[in-house]
Amino acid sequence: MVEAMSQLREEKAQLQEELVALRERLAVRDSEQQATSTQLQNQVEHLKEKLISQAQEVSHLRSELGGTDLEKHRDLLMVENERLRQEMRRCEAELQELRAKPAAPCTGCEHSQESAQLRDRLSQLQLEVAENKGLLSELNLEVQQKTDRLAEVELRLKDCLAEKAQEEERLSRRLRDSHETIASLRAQSPPIKYVIKTVEVESSKTKQALSESQARNQHLQEQVAMQRQVLKEMEQQLQSSHQLTAQLRAQIAMYESELERAHGQMLEEMQSLEEDKNRAIEEAFARAQVEMKAVHENLAGVRTNLLTLQPALRTLTNDYNGLKRQVRGFPLLLQEALKSVKAEIGQAIEEVNSNNQELLRKYRRELQLRKKCHNELVRLKGNIRVIARVRPVTKEDGEGPEATNAVTFDPDDDSIIHLQHKGKPVSFELDKVFSSQASQQDVFQEVQALITSCIDGFNVCIFAYGQTGAGKTYTMEGTPENPGINQRALRLLFSEVQEKASDWEYTITVSAAEIYNEVLRDLLGQEPQEKLEIRLCPDGSGQLYVPGLTEFQVQSVEDINKVFEFGHTNRTTEFTNLNEHSSRSHALLIVTVRGVDCSTGLRTTGKLNLVDLAGSERVGKSGAEGSRLREAQHINKSLSALGDVIAALRSRQGHVPFRNSKLTYLLQDSLSGDSKTLMVVQVSPVEKNTSETLYSLKFAERVRSVELGPGSRRTELGSWSSQEHLEWEPACQTPQPSARAHSAPGSGTTSRPGSIRRKLQPSGKSRPLPM
Ligand code: ADP
Ligand code: MG
Repeated sequence: MVEAMSQLREEKAQLQEELVALRERLAVRDSEQQATSTQLQNQVEHLKEKLISQAQEVSHLRSELGGTDLEKHRDLLMVENERLRQEMRRCEAELQELRAKPAAPCTGCEHSQESAQLRDRLSQLQLEVAENKGLLSELNLEVQQKTDRLAEVELRLKDCLAEKAQEEERLSRRLRDSHETIASLRAQSPPIKYVIKTVEVESSKTKQALSESQARNQHLQEQVAMQRQVLKEMEQQLQSSHQLTAQLRAQIAMYESELERAHGQMLEEMQSLEEDKNRAIEEAFARAQVEMKAVHENLAGVRTNLLTLQPALRTLTNDYNGLKRQVRGFPLLLQEALKSVKAEIGQAIEEVNSNNQELLRKYRRELQLRKKCHNELVRLKGNIRVIARVRPVTKEDGEGPEATNAVTFDPDDDSIIHLQHKGKPVSFELDKVFSSQASQQDVFQEVQALITSCIDGFNVCIFAYGQTGAGKTYTMEGTPENPGINQRALRLLFSEVQEKASDWEYTITVSAAEIYNEVLRDLLGQEPQEKLEIRLCPDGSGQLYVPGLTEFQVQSVEDINKVFEFGHTNRTTEFTNLNEHSSRSHALLIVTVRGVDCSTGLRTTGKLNLVDLAGSERVGKSGAEGSRLREAQHINKSLSALGDVIAALRSRQGHVPFRNSKLTYLLQDSLSGDSKTLMVVQVSPVEKNTSETLYSLKFAERVRSVELGPGSRRTELGSWSSQEHLEWEPACQTPQPSARAHSAPGSGTTSRPGSIRRKLQPSGKSRPLPM
């Protein structure tokens, strides 16, 4: 027992030791647990604090840069934007106003340039604002996104907090349980054995509880670790959110600065606009003041004027009233006046009419007188006049003694020509002599009066006579640059007719014909080879006409040229050697001028015959045979007949042998009666031609001296037979120059042939001009 007791004691001691150890261990455990729980509590506390601080941080963040702040900022920006917009609108309105205001007076002034610049700047700013708006909307979007994310984070944080609170709750509960367990463990003090057992039992329980608590602790620690992890993540997120916020802040700052800059620019622009506006207003004001002053001055002047005008107005009113009264009576007065004026005008018209009649009568009388005077002049000059024209020496005349000049003139008398023939001087007197220096115009001047008499109804013949090469064609036709009588005559007729156009209506027609070997041909006809006949009018009037002779009406120089060209073409196609042919034929241009007096209906017809005669050179009997001889005979015959006719006319013979040749027969009307004839004798000046020159001049002188006196006519004249013309050699080599007195016109003792003008009737076929 003792043993057992001692054993028990030992055991007890052992147990006590063990208990002590256990107590110690328990205490250690307890303290450990305490420490752990305090640690845990601390941790929880710390976590709580952290959570609070995080929540605070989050709320702070939210308040500082969270969605609401960003939104605020956005709102602020929007407000600012709105304000800017309004300002801009106001600026625009002001600008519009400014634009409208100085538009009228300031066109092109410096303000318009400035305003244009400002407008540009404004549009630029508007562009910038639009850009900023875009940026702002982007920012808004970003902020919206951030806000969403923040809300999400907040939600998660809330969840975490709730979890944490639950965990805390759970942990504190556990802790409380543990405390209770420990307290209950402590409270147990059974007998040692029992205690030991209990302790053992209890310790196993405790162990279990411990292990459970350890496990829980472990779990808690894991959860804490997890929480930490979550916290860490959240911190990271927070950090990134900080960064983002910083970035956003930077961007916002940038935008703000940009906006500020734009705003500053805008302000500057507005400032300058304001200044401009003020300046413009000031200027306008100054102008208005000046104008106002002027207006005031004017007003003052007007006032004084008004004051002075008032009496005048009064008198005017009086006058006006008087006038009114007069006007009332005016229609009556006017009627009376009109009546008397009408009567006066009627009387005046009657007077004028009678005056006009008188004038017309006088004019007609004057016309008659003019015609008479002209007739008298022509009669004094002679109805038949003969002039000579000497052509200049040409290259064709060659060189040597044969080509020397044999013709001289009298410096004091333009009707005398001297010829050196075979060493002896011979002189002739004609109506006029043109030297080689005379121009076409000079010659035309001499014949001008004849041509105009055509308009008054006279018949005129102009002949160019002379040997071949003496200048007949040159005088009649001339050259294109220097036209002769033909073209000049027609030009003159046109201008004269034009001048009289108010009283007279004229038509001018032309025909062209040639006589070769006594055959008459139409040069303007469609068949130039056709022989034309000269017939007596069947009406018994005794007038002649050429059936089939073409007539062209001409109105201008162009028309004449066309006619001449047509005639020339006809002639060239007809004859291979035109020069030779033309020298052996007579070429006639017949111009007929028909006029009607518009007031009286009086009709006149004048005919102008321009004749380029065949060469007058004599062909010796021996030197010619065959056709050449026939040609020569025909030429000789017709020229002799012409001489005879002129001689008969000038000597006023009863019988004029017109029928002796085609030429004289054709020209019968134009040679007889009170017709006028001019013979232009063409002379070659060179030595080798003196013989023909002498012959031509003798012919001229004879023609001219025909009209000397009725008694001596025939004896002086002799007979101009064809034989003579062909074979005639100068009877006297040195004929005495005729006395000038011989050219005196007849005293009118002889009766002139009947003055009834016989007309060569037109064929009646007036053709249109050849084109
Ligand atoms: P015709 O017709 O008498 O045979 P032309 O008229 O053919 O003679 O003249 C012969 C030449 O002399 C032509 O070359 C012409 O140009 C020239 N001639 C004639 N008269 C003159 C003049 N007055 N002035 C210049 N040249 C003339
Ligand atoms: Mg000729």
